[in-house]
Amino acid sequence: MAEGGEFLKTQKDKEFFVHENHLYTFNSHSKRDPDLHFYVCAERKICKGRIHVKNGEFVKEVTPHTHLADAAKVQAKRAIGYCKEQAASSQDATSKILQDGLGTQSQAVAGALPSLPAMKRMIQRQRNAAQNVPPDPKTAEAFIIPEEYKFVRIFEREEDFLHFDKTEEGRRIVIFTTKKNLELLVRVKFLGVIVFTFAVIATNFASAAVGERGKTFIFYAF
Ligand SMILES: [Zn+2]
Repeated sequence: MAEGGEFLKTQKDKEFFVHENHLYTFNSHSKRDPDLHFYVCAERKICKGRIHVKNGEFVKEVTPHTHLADAAKVQAKRAIGYCKEQAASSQDATSKILQDGLGTQSQAVAGALPSLPAMKRMIQRQRNAAQNVPPDPKTAEAFIIPEEYKFVRIFEREEDFLHFDKTEEGRRIVIFTTKKNLELLVRVKFLGVIVFTFAVIATNFASAAVGERGKTFIFYAF
């Protein structure tokens, strides 16, 4: 384990911080120093343990724990995190993921882990969730552009990215661009546009663009 602590991801949105075999979850950050994060003991029902973390490094303990550190529990969380990550990102068989992730663990760690059938179900759930893409839209008009693709963030400033979106006689034209790129385009008197297949932006964009391109759906991005 790293001297200054480490981050441990066990679920999509849940991240633990580990220091000296205690697990912590993020609580808040300092108003004066946004880089200074306050973490509380993961056993917060029974313990008020609290530490300061800065840039991923343990800074100091503010409130001590009322229980002992549990290395086996931390190791079990680490193994679970590995299995979940592999389930979402690899094509490996469930048995291989379990073998690689659990390996030969001590009895204490094995005791802190869920049962084997539960681990298998967890891997399957993770796998399904990772492949859970929305179905392809039936018509160009039915395709909903996710909010997060309508804007871009340029140097901390949010700017419109969806510039044009219109459907006429069943034909939909969508243009993504920034104001700056439009200005540049005018300045160089360059009339072409670069058409991306939207694989670079999102898988569902790609299927919509490939399936409908040239017929009812035209995407431009520059
Ligand atoms: Zn504690």
